[in-house]
Amino acid sequence: MTPYDAISGQGPTGLTDGFGRTVSYLRVSVTDRCDLRCVYCMAEHMTFLPKAEVLTLEELDRIASAFVALGVKKLRITGGEPLVRKGVMGLIRELGRHLRSGALEELTLTTNGTRLAQFAGELAEAGVRRVNVSLDTLKPELFRRLTRGGDVAKVVAGIEAAQAAGLKVKINAVALKDDNAAELPELIRWAHGRGCDMTLIETMPLGEVETDRTDQYLSLETVRAELESFWTLSDLPLSTGGPARYVAVAETGGRLGFITPLSHNFCEACNRVRLTCTGTLHTCLGQEDASDLRAVIRAGGSDDDLVDAIRLAVDGKPKGHDFRIERSAGPAVARHMSTTGG
Ligand code: SAM
Ligand code: SF4
Repeated sequence: MTPYDAISGQGPTGLTDGFGRTVSYLRVSVTDRCDLRCVYCMAEHMTFLPKAEVLTLEELDRIASAFVALGVKKLRITGGEPLVRKGVMGLIRELGRHLRSGALEELTLTTNGTRLAQFAGELAEAGVRRVNVSLDTLKPELFRRLTRGGDVAKVVAGIEAAQAAGLKVKINAVALKDDNAAELPELIRWAHGRGCDMTLIETMPLGEVETDRTDQYLSLETVRAELESFWTLSDLPLSTGGPARYVAVAETGGRLGFITPLSHNFCEACNRVRLTCTGTLHTCLGQEDASDLRAVIRAGGSDDDLVDAIRLAVDGKPKGHDFRIERSAGPAVARHMSTTGG
């Protein structure tokens, strides 16, 4: 029990930004490290953060719990690869107390799946009901190249273990013009055939990587038009407050989401903020805005100080972002997705 468990009475006022949007969803990156090096996400030789800069598991719990006390209903644990962080299961189990108290509605995870086979059972026991697994291709060679060394069989085994443990699995794939565009229908059929929803993601200009991302950028409008040439897609009203739009695919019987962060059409309903593993709060994925919550707690700040810092940051949440994929423009936002948390 942290002091925040006692102040959860503040919940009803909730966290509202300067534009009247309620913030009910926090993504928490627990590490910047990863056992893969996806070409669109990381440079081959990444310099990772010194340990002292990364929040301890207790600090992560303290900050996440403050958000829950302020009315956040959904926590997503991400990274980097969350399952490579030592002790992460302890943190997830601890955060599970907010599910049991009813303060939190959902505790989820985004993972590359390489360690899911090992952790699926424990995740289910901790109260996790759904996980997102990133998988851009089923072809072993291509997977190895895209992830710079990964083994797709481990990910598939992880997905199977998660389902066997009773977790609902959603597959996320980044649409890459040259590498997996032609395989996407097969990947969707594969996911839907296993009872998994699937979402496609456009590449985002976050952080320097070696490849020129504009070369691999594939508009999901193009993908959707292609899929509609042989499948029947019908729009679903489902709104997550995020950049995903969902359709039902009649032929596969599954749901397909399109995440198009480069379009502005979701900012008005945006309900989410992101905490990096160094305790920086970003209230918009596409802006450089940042608030240092680690500084507040490491300076000995009280629970009230932390709550004030969170409220101040959320109040300043930008109205929208300004991503553009343009040649020679460089990354729109300097931080990598692995730092912010996807
Ligand atoms: N390691 C975990 C994983 O891969 O699922 C969690 C973190 S990862 C940064 C979260 C998601 O961000 C993944 O689905 C990944 O494909 C996506 N991602 C990473 N870099 C991206 C980029 N530049 N543009 C679009 N999506 C990206
Ligand atoms: Fe690692 Fe996920 Fe980034 Fe791939 S997308 S390098 S798995 S953090």
